[in-house]
Amino acid sequence: MLENIRIVLVETSHSGNIGSAARAMKTMGLTKLYLVAPKQGIDEQAIALSAGAEDVVKNAIIVPSFDAAVSDCSLVIGTSARLRHLQNSLIEPRECGQIAMQAAKCGQIALVFGRERVGLTNDELLKCRYHLTIPANPDYSSLNLAMAVQLVCYEIRMAFLQETPVSVIENTNINTQNLATAQELEYFFEHTERVYQSIGFIQNQGVMPKLRRLYQRADIEKNELNILRGMLSAVEKRLISASTFTDNS
Ligand code: SAH
Repeated sequence: MLENIRIVLVETSHSGNIGSAARAMKTMGLTKLYLVAPKQGIDEQAIALSAGAEDVVKNAIIVPSFDAAVSDCSLVIGTSARLRHLQNSLIEPRECGQIAMQAAKCGQIALVFGRERVGLTNDELLKCRYHLTIPANPDYSSLNLAMAVQLVCYEIRMAFLQETPVSVIENTNINTQNLATAQELEYFFEHTERVYQSIGFIQNQGVMPKLRRLYQRADIEKNELNILRGMLSAVEKRLISASTFTDNS
C-alpha cells in the first residue's frame, strides 16, 4: 500500500531539502518521490543529506509540472500552513494518514509539498481533494519542508502499522478504484469552463474555483464523470446546431 503513495515536491529551491525529504520518507517506509521542476537538480548536497536514502533520491521522477506529477492519481492531497479559509477540505496529519492508507488500497495517492519560500499556489491547491495543515504555532506555523514531509510520513506509517485485515474491509469508505483521476478531472474542468463561458454563464474568474471545490468534494467516480462530460457535450451539440440554424436563416 505504501508503494501507492507518492511524495511530490514542487519547485524545490535547495537540493539539500530534497535529500532530507527522501531520508524522512525512507525512515517511514515511503520511497516514491516526484520532483516538479526542481531549481537545483539532484547533486552532491542532495545525496549527502539523504544519508542512507540515496536510492530514493536517485530513483526520483522529475516532471515539468504539477499536473504531470499527479495525472494518474485518484487522490491528491496538498499541504500548506495557510489554509484556514478552506474549511470543507481541511485535514490534519493524523486524519491524512488514515485517508491515505484507505485510498492507497486501490489507487495512486499524491501528497504534495510546496516551495520553500511561497508554498503551493492557489491554482495548485485547487487541484487537491484535501488540504493538509500541520496545526503548528499560529504565530510561526511554517515548518522546514523536509520536517513537514517527516511529520506527514510518520502519520502515514502510524496508520499503516495500525492496519489489520479486518479494518481493511470494514473501513473502505474511500474507494479510489472507481474515482476519476486528476487528469480526467482536469479535462472535465477545462470542458466545463469552455462550455459555460461560451453560453455566457461564466464571465469572471470567481466561478471556476468555486466549481472546482464543489466537484472535488464530490469524489466523482469515473462513470459519473462520463455523465457530466456527456451533459456538457450535449449542450455543445445544441449550441452548434443552434448557431448553424442562425447562420442559415
Ligand atoms: N511561506 C511558505 C512556507 C512554505 S514551507 C507558505 O506560506 O506556504 C514549504 C512547504 O512545507 C509548504 O509548502 C508545505 O508543503 C510544507 N509545510 C510547512 N509548514 C507546514 C504546515 N504548518 N502545515 C502543512 N504543511 C507545511
